Amino acid sequence: MWVIPGSEATSLLWEVGPGVRAGVSTRRGGASRPPFDTLNWSYAVGDDPQAVTENRRRVLAWAHAEPDQLVTAGQVHGAAVAVVGPEEAGRGPVAGVDGLLTAHPGTVVAVAVADCVPLLLAAPQAGWVGAIHAGWRGTAAKIGPQAVQRLFEQGVRPDQLWVGIGPSIGPCCYEVDEPVYTAISQALGSDRPLRPGRPGHWQLDLWLANQMALEAVGVPPSHIECLGWCTACRSDWFFSYRRDGPRSGRMGGWICLTSPTTSTAS
Ligand SMILES: [Zn+2]
Repeated sequence: MWVIPGSEATSLLWEVGPGVRAGVSTRRGGASRPPFDTLNWSYAVGDDPQAVTENRRRVLAWAHAEPDQLVTAGQVHGAAVAVVGPEEAGRGPVAGVDGLLTAHPGTVVAVAVADCVPLLLAAPQAGWVGAIHAGWRGTAAKIGPQAVQRLFEQGVRPDQLWVGIGPSIGPCCYEVDEPVYTAISQALGSDRPLRPGRPGHWQLDLWLANQMALEAVGVPPSHIECLGWCTACRSDWFFSYRRDGPRSGRMGGWICLTSPTTSTAS
């Protein structure tokens, strides 16, 4: 279940039961100046690094974690996924990947987004979590389903797995052209997430596209929880690349396993 923990909350929370903390940061309650106001998650957009470090510290407080427990992804709009742990934490992004999986309690995995979809994977009983960055390219390359299949190979059962689809550009605002139409409809074997718009253009529903691809590899439909908030519509909560251009902030989609002792405490 997606939860908004207050009007100045630095993060939305995805509550998926004991053993996991997860969410997607907002633009509220941070230390950055315009155009990165106020909570920008990314060091890669030209913001003051000290402000970003402070912003991350505030967001990670929701995970009961510090920035040196965080692993981030290099993000190249591909479909590569890495399994990570404490060795990768507190360093630079893991190069060449758009998804991170971990089985280590206390290691926070996160992706940066501002229109692309943050997919959060949680299988607390099986001891796995993941964070995936899926724009149209990643969606067409099926990065979500590939990450899920990695978890199934590790022994995670479909009924143990939950997927949170965080805020991204919505079908209301995401107009695409023919190359994107072709890539998405070929990947899914269906053009259901593409509604015809202006001549030669379509409105793409990335939430539905990812949902369909995840269900196709066996994720139970009732285990996929989509927030349904559009980053381009909601300038009060989110940055949007399409709306604001390259000099805008990013949100962080983050997730971690808590230690077994804290998760079972009453
Ligand atoms: Zn919209």
